[in-house]
Amino acid sequence: MTKRTAQDDRIRDLVIVGGGTAGWMAAAALARFIRNGYTRIRLIESEEIGTVGVGEATIPPIRGFLQLLRIDENEFLRATRGTFKLGIEFVDWTRPGHRYLHPFGAFGADIEGVPFHQFFLKFRQMEAAADIESYSLTAQAALHGRFAVPRGNAFPLNQWAYAYQFDAIRVAGFLRSYAEKLGVRRTEGRVTEVSLQGSEGFIESLTLESGERVEGDFFIDCSGFRSLLLGKTLRVRFEDWAQWLPCDRAVAVASSDPAPPRPYTRSTARRAGWQWNIPLQHRTGNGYVYSHHEISDDEAAATLLANIEGEPLGAPRHLSFRTGRRKQFWKQNCLALGLAAGFLEPLESTAIHLVQAGIAKFIALFPGKHPNAVEIAEYNRLMAAAYEQIRDFLVLHYHATERDDSNLWKYCRNMSIPDSLRHKIELFSARGRCFRYDDDLFSLTSWVAVLLGQGIWPAAYDETANSMTDDQLREVLEKMRGTIEQTARKMPLQQDYIDFHCKAGESV
Ligand SMILES: Cc1cc2nc3c(=O)[nH]c(=O)nc-3n(C[C@H](O)[C@H](O)[C@H](O)COP(=O)(O)OP(=O)(O)OC[C@H]3O[C@@H](n4cnc5c(N)ncnc54)[C@H](O)[C@@H]3O)c2cc1C
Repeated sequence: MTKRTAQDDRIRDLVIVGGGTAGWMAAAALARFIRNGYTRIRLIESEEIGTVGVGEATIPPIRGFLQLLRIDENEFLRATRGTFKLGIEFVDWTRPGHRYLHPFGAFGADIEGVPFHQFFLKFRQMEAAADIESYSLTAQAALHGRFAVPRGNAFPLNQWAYAYQFDAIRVAGFLRSYAEKLGVRRTEGRVTEVSLQGSEGFIESLTLESGERVEGDFFIDCSGFRSLLLGKTLRVRFEDWAQWLPCDRAVAVASSDPAPPRPYTRSTARRAGWQWNIPLQHRTGNGYVYSHHEISDDEAAATLLANIEGEPLGAPRHLSFRTGRRKQFWKQNCLALGLAAGFLEPLESTAIHLVQAGIAKFIALFPGKHPNAVEIAEYNRLMAAAYEQIRDFLVLHYHATERDDSNLWKYCRNMSIPDSLRHKIELFSARGRCFRYDDDLFSLTSWVAVLLGQGIWPAAYDETANSMTDDQLREVLEKMRGTIEQTARKMPLQQDYIDFHCKAGESV
C-alpha cells in the first residue's frame, strides 16, 4: 500500500458560498495567503438572494486586515465612501439625558505599571475631577470632529487608535475585485443542493440552479443567516443567547448628511432597543435594533424616521435575527464565517471583526483535505471564546442601566447574567481591577469606559495609586489633560483630512 503524504492531502478546490462581506473578505485573504500555486478558490453567490447590506462600523483591528492584504487605506476609503471612527458615543443608555464615549486607544498613561484609571479614581475621590474622556486623545479629537493619522510615538499620540465607517456594499465590491485579480473565480448562481460523501458527513459537491455541479475539497459557508452548509446541511445546532441579548429585529435606512460627518458612531438607547448613526462621506447609515416583544415593526420604523438627521434616502428595510452562535464553527470539511457562524448585535461593531478573526485562525490552522480533529477543536475553542467575550461586553451595556421605561429595560436590569460577566463586574466594583483574559478583544480602556459609563463606580481605588501625593497627582493629571486637549485641537478637522487624502468622487 502506498503511503499518503502531506502533499497528496493538499486542498485543490476550496469553495466559498456567499459573496457578502464575509465571503469576499475570506476570498481576498485566502487568495493573498494561500499562494501555493495549487489551491484554486471559487466563490459562488446569488445576486437574486443578495446580501444583508448592513455592517458599516468597525473596530481598530480592521486596519490590520487592510495592512496584511497590502491595501492602501486612502484608496479603500475613497472606494467605500469611508470615514474614520474614533469610538462610539452611548446616549441615554445609563439613563435618559446621560451620555458617554467608548473611545478607541487608551485613557491617559499608566504610571510605573499602575493603570491610569486607578489614579483617575483616586483623583476623583480627592476632588471634582474632569470626566475620564478628558484623558483620551481619541475622545477629545472625536468630540471636536478632528482626525489625523499621527506621526510620532510620544504621549499622547501613542494612545491613538482608529477604525473605519464604510458602505458595506462597496466593501464587498472592493474586495471582490481584489480577490478576482489574485485569481479567485466567481460564479453567479443559487446553490440548490448540497451532497455529502459517504457516512462521515464530508461535503462533496454543490449543485446550482443551472444544474452545474461544483465539487470541492473544502467549503466555507458565508451564506449569511441561512447557514446553508454548516447549519442546514451539517445540522450544527444554534446556541441561542436571547435571554441576555433580547433584541431580535432591526430596521435600517440611509439618510443625507446634514453636516460634515462625525468621526465616531453614535448609539442612542430607546424604549425598545437602540438606534445607530454611522456617518459616511456621502450619507449616514441609521438603524433601530429592537425587541419585537416591545414594539411592532411599523412603530420601530416610525421611531427611526422621526429620529434621523437629514432626509431619508429610500424606504426603511426590515431585518430579523437570532443572537447566538453555532455550537461548532468548523465541522468536517466545512467552516462557517459571518452570519452563517453566529450573530451578535452590532452595538460594539464586532461582526466584521469576528469574520476577520475567523479567517486569521483558519489560515493559521489551514488544513489538508482530511482536517485533523485537534485542529478543528482548537479553532472551535478559540472562536467560541471570542464570541463569548464579546457577548459579555454587550450584555454589560444592557444590564448596568438605570432605565426602567419599558419591559425590555426592566428585564435587562434584573436578568441573570453570565457568570464570567458577573465576576468581571464584581471585581471592578470592589477596587477597579480589570484583567484581560485569553486574548479578549476589548482592552482595559474599553471595559473601563463602559463600566464607568454605565455607572459602575468602584468602592475604592487600588492601593498602588497612593504612590503619589495628592499634589503630585493633581499636577500629573492636569498636565496629561492639557497635553491631550492641545494635541486634539491641533489636528485637522476630519472633513479637511478626508478632502485632502481620501475623498470619494462625485459618482454614486
Ligand atoms: C442590523 C445589522 C447591523 C449590522 N451592523 C454591523 C456593524 O455596524 N458592524 C459590523 O461589523 N457588522 C455589522 N453587522 C453584521 C454584518 O452585516 C455582517 O457580519 C457582514 O455583513 C457579513 O455578512 P455575511 O457576508 O455573513 O452575510 P450576507 O451579507 O447575508 O451574505 C450572504 C451571501 O450568501 C449568498 N447566498 C445565500 N444563500 C445562497 C445560495 N443558496 N446560493 C448562493 N448564494 C447564496 C448571498 O447571495 C450573499 O452573497 C450588522 C448586521 C445586522 C443584521
